[in-house]
Amino acid sequence: MSYLVDNDGYYGEFGGAYVPEILHKCVKDLQDNYLKIMDSPAFKNEYYNLLKDYVGRPSPLYYASRLSAKYGAKIYLKREDLNHTGAHKINNTTGQILIAKSLGKHRIIAETGAGQHGVATATVCALMNMECVVYMGATDIKRQHINVEKMKMLGATVVPVTSGNMTLKDATNEAIRDWCCHPEDTYYIIGSTVGPHPYPDMVARLQSVISKEIKVQLVEKEGRDYPDYLMACVGGGSNAAGTIYHYIDDPRVKIVLAEAGGKGVDTPYTAATIALGRTGIIHGSKTYVIQNEDGQIEEAYSVSAGLDYPGIGPIHANLAKKKRAMVFPVNDDEAIAAGYELTRLEGIIPALESAHALGALGKLHFRPDDVVVLTVSGRGDKDIETYLKYFNDSKEK
Ligand SMILES: *Cc1c(COP(=O)(O)O)cnc(C)c1O
Repeated sequence: MSYLVDNDGYYGEFGGAYVPEILHKCVKDLQDNYLKIMDSPAFKNEYYNLLKDYVGRPSPLYYASRLSAKYGAKIYLKREDLNHTGAHKINNTTGQILIAKSLGKHRIIAETGAGQHGVATATVCALMNMECVVYMGATDIKRQHINVEKMKMLGATVVPVTSGNMTLKDATNEAIRDWCCHPEDTYYIIGSTVGPHPYPDMVARLQSVISKEIKVQLVEKEGRDYPDYLMACVGGGSNAAGTIYHYIDDPRVKIVLAEAGGKGVDTPYTAATIALGRTGIIHGSKTYVIQNEDGQIEEAYSVSAGLDYPGIGPIHANLAKKKRAMVFPVNDDEAIAAGYELTRLEGIIPALESAHALGALGKLHFRPDDVVVLTVSGRGDKDIETYLKYFNDSKEK
């Protein structure tokens, strides 16, 4: 038994492709071709060259000595924050734009929450001279002004979405609507391991460069190619999927995921999908969804705009259900504290999303010789105002 996708696009009972009739052909074309394209020498050559010279890979595996001393284990940080555009998202958009090109598409659409995926998409569209339309909730446009300006500067059209909570879920709905109207010429670059098959598998494969590098880097540093623990935050699940991909079926490696607890799983202000979700369908995939008794999808909340999604990738729903992964909700205040801690111990300001993974360190009991690899999915530049606001608020109390 494997935890990777099966031939029908499922991870256990989760996944599949639940799409409207009009998108059937687009999705089927992608299902039939993505592996052929990704296995071709032309794709591999161009993708790996771009990852090296444009994205700046391999990202370092950094031994964090002061953090290690604090938690009593050997903690390594996988530094996705050092990538071009500041997060792991670019690994995926670089691959998908090449796939779009192979399929003969010339118009790109994307959804974005915090704006990181929007910027990563607009970046590769500039690079490849493709038209780029990014759907973004009006609430997020206000919260993430700099990323909106970056996307415009890169030549993308940013479309404000005013339905629902005006955040990521609503932006995704609108992107799917656009795709339905332009199935012939448009390619939809999804930003995480979500959506209909083959997106979760395709995005996981494109992000799997993270664990491919970890294997080589651990041999250099520890003399063995596997850690005892892998840790990552989960929004839709792409940085986590990339971190665990080459270890997913290796029982020696414990997988620890951090989801956004928000103000607490016992409040309505949370995005802890594994803790609170029930099986449903969201954006073309069967997975855990935070929903009310009538099956209406609820609004998710997190201090981190990259994690406030009421669903989760089907890969992770299955890992949680089969108990292959331990999943901890990490609340806003725990994540903020963990972000400050890394900043003061190691001189690294992490993205608020990544700070959730750091916030899970204190929930585990390590042995001194345990090797832990934790992925810092992005840098904190975009989150400085939120960090400062919490710092000042707590001083006032
Ligand atoms: C988007 C984002 C996430 C959440 O997305 P995943 O698909 O779960 O990885 C996490 N960290 C950063 C820095 C992000 O930009």
